[in-house]
Amino acid sequence: MEVEDDVELLSRGGFRCRLCMLQVANRPSLDDHLQGKKHRKLTEVRAQRKSQEEKSIFVSGFRRETSELELSEYFSNFGPVSSIVMDKEKGIYAIIELQDQAVMHKVLSHPQHCMDGQKLRVKPRHKKDFKYTPPKKQGPARGQELSLEKLSQALCLCSDVDEQLKQLVSLFQFSENERKLRELLVTLLQEVFFEFFPGCEVLPFGSSVNSFEVHGCDLDLFLDLEHTKTFQASARKPQEEKQSEDKAAMDTLSEDKAALDTLSEDSILSDVDLESASASEILELIAAVLRQCVPGVHGVQALTSARLPVVKFQHKESLLQGDISINNRLAFCNTRLLQLYAEVDDRVRPLVYTLRYWAKQKELAGNPFGGGPLLNNYALTLLVLFFLQTRSPPVLPAVAQLKELADEGEKAIIDGWDCSFPKDSSKMEPSCNLENLRSLLAEFFHVFTDYDFASTVISLREGQAFPLKDILASETSSMLKLGALNIQDPFELSHNVAGNVNEKIALRFQSRCRDAAKYCRSLQYQRKSSKGKTWGLVRLFQRGDNTEISITEEGPAAGDGLVIYLPSPLLVLTEEQRRKLCGTEGVQQLCFQKVCTALRFVLQDVLKCSVSQDEDNENMANAEQAVLREEVPCVGAKRILAEEDSSVPDSKRPRLEAVSTREEKVSWHCTICHKVWLGRRKMRRELQRNAAPSLLQDVDSLQVEAEVTEAIRQQEHGSGPAQPLLMFRVCIVSAGAASQDCRTSLCFTPFQDPVALFQDFFHFLQVFLPKTVMKHIKKHGLNSSVGETELGLGQGMDFYPMQCSP
Ligand code: ATP
Ligand code: MG
Repeated sequence: MEVEDDVELLSRGGFRCRLCMLQVANRPSLDDHLQGKKHRKLTEVRAQRKSQEEKSIFVSGFRRETSELELSEYFSNFGPVSSIVMDKEKGIYAIIELQDQAVMHKVLSHPQHCMDGQKLRVKPRHKKDFKYTPPKKQGPARGQELSLEKLSQALCLCSDVDEQLKQLVSLFQFSENERKLRELLVTLLQEVFFEFFPGCEVLPFGSSVNSFEVHGCDLDLFLDLEHTKTFQASARKPQEEKQSEDKAAMDTLSEDKAALDTLSEDSILSDVDLESASASEILELIAAVLRQCVPGVHGVQALTSARLPVVKFQHKESLLQGDISINNRLAFCNTRLLQLYAEVDDRVRPLVYTLRYWAKQKELAGNPFGGGPLLNNYALTLLVLFFLQTRSPPVLPAVAQLKELADEGEKAIIDGWDCSFPKDSSKMEPSCNLENLRSLLAEFFHVFTDYDFASTVISLREGQAFPLKDILASETSSMLKLGALNIQDPFELSHNVAGNVNEKIALRFQSRCRDAAKYCRSLQYQRKSSKGKTWGLVRLFQRGDNTEISITEEGPAAGDGLVIYLPSPLLVLTEEQRRKLCGTEGVQQLCFQKVCTALRFVLQDVLKCSVSQDEDNENMANAEQAVLREEVPCVGAKRILAEEDSSVPDSKRPRLEAVSTREEKVSWHCTICHKVWLGRRKMRRELQRNAAPSLLQDVDSLQVEAEVTEAIRQQEHGSGPAQPLLMFRVCIVSAGAASQDCRTSLCFTPFQDPVALFQDFFHFLQVFLPKTVMKHIKKHGLNSSVGETELGLGQGMDFYPMQCSP
């Protein structure tokens, strides 16, 4: 197979290697990967498997007690047998690899195979696409991967929002052991590298040490070779010059002296002049040392053409992913600055952790491979720090003010940039700002909702934002690469740390801030629920897009639990039919009704789940209040319910003549008494196998699904009378304009799940519901009349691809 066949160009940028199941940010990284050990190895394995498949046969029908040897003896009559793999558990089939295809053809062309009086079934081995399954990660999970469910449980136990913010830090930060493990690994690397690069220092930076760590975050390391270069230069000088310079060099490196003395003449360094070697050469050298001399390290890859060249590696025992860079002193320095800010005020960490997690959930931050248009964690952290610098009175001082506090020993110029600031936070006055975490978080969202990002530059150095023209007039900052979001690095003033963020993401950021700011004004953000509902940060962290706007209100909303999206029913129409319909008065309500009807049918008739209208008066009252407050133009909980849905009271039927709304919603209580999601495939297969062939033609797949459910119920019934197994609420929300892009979100919240079944059930629904709901809509068509357009459509049309993105 051609290499390029394995590569997929991703629409959001970057590439994916289908063979190795991994993504990279750009072409050079892709090339590095394709030439790397893992890709080459998997290519070889795939080729080997393919060649094995092409000369293998699948044999069944032999007696259970038949041994491999007997099979081998039998098939050797046709030619050499290379290997036999038997289904050990059941002893009902074997895969036999023959020496070559000629032998295989000989076996296959034999009219009848018999062993011990048994007729064997022999056929060519089924050819499968080679699929690599990456090994499952163990050990400390990356903090962001802590499930929202678990996080929500922990947060709901807190007494107020401030406590929730602090709790988030406790949940994500390193344990003592995790910290020690990293320290040990750094010490190990330091010892090994010192052998090869005398005088070098391995310095951790980034989230491992900047106070904003999360479990399992990468280990960013800076290999400082400055002293090594000095040492090497002096070692190469003529003897007399060397003696005096060696002394000076040794004086500065007094603690390393003993080690330097032991440097052997045949060190790896004797071949490489660090001063003149390119960064790529040095990184290759580092990669070689890692591969050959550091125990427990694997997956070493030198990414020499990346924006920031690094050597990547993984440590087997700890599963830590490491990046080693050189020439990265500024990053080491800004890490210290972040640490200092975190020490200065104890509101910094809770706010940064909360906003990092929020931004991750909202797909605003966290480019998985470094590249990409999202904010990176460093840029987002700077934005939070800037926000705190600009409160009145400020929570944090500007970097320029810090510089004034630096004493002589703390003054530093790095790569020409002034990086002076104090090391010790105790020198700094505590802030007079007394705002609590809850209101600071709400204010963050409020401030950035309408922020003019594109025409200002955010300066942490000065603690203010400047109009672009002022920045362009300044000599130092005029080199800044301007973009949709401009955050000037606190030290390297010509660097926009958010230069990668595109306009779409900047707008999304503002839109998500707007949603969040609105939610923060609700009681659900501000106060713990007395009824055990989600509150405070939990709703803020729900994943999703604008359909989630409803979480800002207190009605039944898509913020309570887990969300499944259903595609627009308009997708069952042809392009032209859709075009005619989109924007027509009442079409949104019609679509919503169709979805509700189909959903009710699937839950009730297909899955035998009992469904009743949510009579939660509190939710309804809250929704009413929201309308009265005019925070949303029209919340549909009261008035938009399915026309064909018999459970909808008359007073709540849709008024199609009403001005089209932006949001439709309804909430149902559901109870399920049987595990109808378990063993469905098997049961379906059995039913289909037993059905008369004539019945299989023109089969109604929803009918089949209903029969499958019924069969599972019958099967279970033997184990006693049916008791409610699981109770949940589903809140159905459709927001935005009626178009094919308008999805309906189904937000599920379990409220009785005594034997922890909900998660499994939800996973099943994620796949099942979008498929079956659309089948129902397609079967019944959008056959109501809306405005002047007759929609007798849908039946007998091609099945449209589903879009299900939970
Ligand atoms: P995490 O690894 O959890 O995403 P991090 O802070 O370690 O967080 P990295 O992307 O690994 O983020 O970056 C490591 C360090 O490199 C940062 O802490 C910062 O010092 C520096 N850095 C990252 N991105 C930039 C940037 N755009 N401009 C300047 N320095 C950066
Ligand atoms: Mg990092």
